[in-house]
Amino acid sequence: MAANDQHSPPQKDGPAATPVPLPAADKPVPAPTLETAPYWEGCRQHQLRIQRCSNCRQCQFFPRIYCAKCFSEQVEWINASGRAKILSFTVVRRPVSPAFANEVPYIVALVTLEEGPQMMTNIVGCAPDEVAIGMPVEVIFEDWSETISIPKFRLHRG
Ligand SMILES: [Zn+2]
Repeated sequence: MAANDQHSPPQKDGPAATPVPLPAADKPVPAPTLETAPYWEGCRQHQLRIQRCSNCRQCQFFPRIYCAKCFSEQVEWINASGRAKILSFTVVRRPVSPAFANEVPYIVALVTLEEGPQMMTNIVGCAPDEVAIGMPVEVIFEDWSETISIPKFRLHRG
């Protein structure tokens, strides 16, 4: 854009001001990449996979082609236990997209996996006022298609 665009008159034929509402089925679906394909294949099998560095043993999530601690490229995939604790959470009461309008209120949480890495997720299967920081949770999977399953967490009621 040129520097003098701010002096241009308002455009009459710009993008529509009102976005077209999406049906709830039109949620954005993850697209596996070369780096994340083993993770999504694990999810498809209802197995939560994370990476572990063969050099320094650090576990990491999200998937990377190198270790975020020692920069070794010797990272391997392991099956996580699926157990975690809630580090922080918020309750979404206003959908960020029309695709999620039928889901509110829902819980977005940061959980610490038993192996160490943190993961952004949803806490499902309970009311928002049942959730508290520090609670133990366990992974479950929502099958969105034949190839994509989404890991979410529920309270571990032992
Ligand atoms: Zn490392």
